Amino acid sequence: MHYLVAGAAGFIGSHLCERLLAEGHRVTGIDNYLTGKADNLEALHGSEGFAFVEHDVTRPLPDLGAADVVMNLASPASPRDYLAYPVETLRVGSEGTLHLLEYARRHHARFLLASTSECYGDPLEHPQRETYWGHVNPVGPRSCYDEAKRYAEALTMAFHRAYGMRTNIARIFNTFGPRMKLDDGRVVPAFLSQALRGEPITVFGTGEQTRSFCYVSDLVDGLVRLSRSEERMPVNLGNPLEMTMLEFAERIKALTGSTSEIVYHPLPEDDPQRRRPDITKAREVLGWEPLVSLDQGLRLTVEYFAGLKPRAD
Ligand code: NAD
Ligand code: UDP
Repeated sequence: MHYLVAGAAGFIGSHLCERLLAEGHRVTGIDNYLTGKADNLEALHGSEGFAFVEHDVTRPLPDLGAADVVMNLASPASPRDYLAYPVETLRVGSEGTLHLLEYARRHHARFLLASTSECYGDPLEHPQRETYWGHVNPVGPRSCYDEAKRYAEALTMAFHRAYGMRTNIARIFNTFGPRMKLDDGRVVPAFLSQALRGEPITVFGTGEQTRSFCYVSDLVDGLVRLSRSEERMPVNLGNPLEMTMLEFAERIKALTGSTSEIVYHPLPEDDPQRRRPDITKAREVLGWEPLVSLDQGLRLTVEYFAGLKPRAD
């Protein structure tokens, strides 16, 4: 099969390409390097069956040949990134998703959207099930990301309903692992790099807000299973193990043997208070659940960060 993966040079996209190539598929990666890195694709360039096209998907796609599956992961994902690129984020979620859906339609291909738990906003229902409509501030700083993804979901459902396309929507919860950028501001690279350097660990707010972290290989497996399923409505993919950010900081300190102190910084506006996926649907429909424990995943991530070459500049 020929897969088009938009956002291939990103953290999750690069792992997804690797998995698809390992299964023997042909993969064309698309990315404009807005938040991704060429380094993430280094290992793939030698692989038979891999091609890469540098392209901004908010512009119409070039001819990339017949495709069997189009997977749309293109979008800034870290709050620091999407706050730096609010217009680009809205455009890639709307125009980018439109171009990828149109490409999939022309080629009678399947289409998968990488959506997000941010569609639930600062949720009033806990844990979050796919039936929850969310509690999103439509004009707050995070709205560029949340509303882009909500629009992308609506557009995907419209293409399915109007044209009978085989579409899937993954609502991805916090995912971590090798190839996250050390400086992208997300909590896993932030706490790990601070702990490893002996710098203060920056907990935002009181640290009582919760998240649930999924290791990237588990997430990728969920995406692949979903793309082959007949489920058209959104499916949560994440690890239901929930913890407060203060507990998470302590866990990272223990795991790295760090003596870093914990310091408190202001809580960013609209930072969701609680987040934990209900994955009953993924278990039932995809036979999927996470297999990698938090500590195993963190150890693999620490190894990756420890092995990063210092930058030449
Ligand atoms: P990432 O920033 O590492 O990867 C996103 C990639 O998309 C980058 O390589 C970037 O350059 C590319 N991109 C952005 N705009 C583009 C454009 N206009 N044209 C072409 N490429 C473009 O982020 P990630 O963590 O790998 O996230 C991947 C996807 O998964 C995103 O769609 C994100 O919203 C979704 N997601 C991720 C998480 C998570 O915890 N990592 C959680 C929920 C949803
Ligand atoms: N966070 C923190 N310190 C940091 C970075 C993030 O306490 O240095 C908190 C942030 O306020 C949020 C949680 O960690 O409550 C997860 O943040 P992240 O940016 O990783 O992703 P989000 O789930 O908010 O999209």
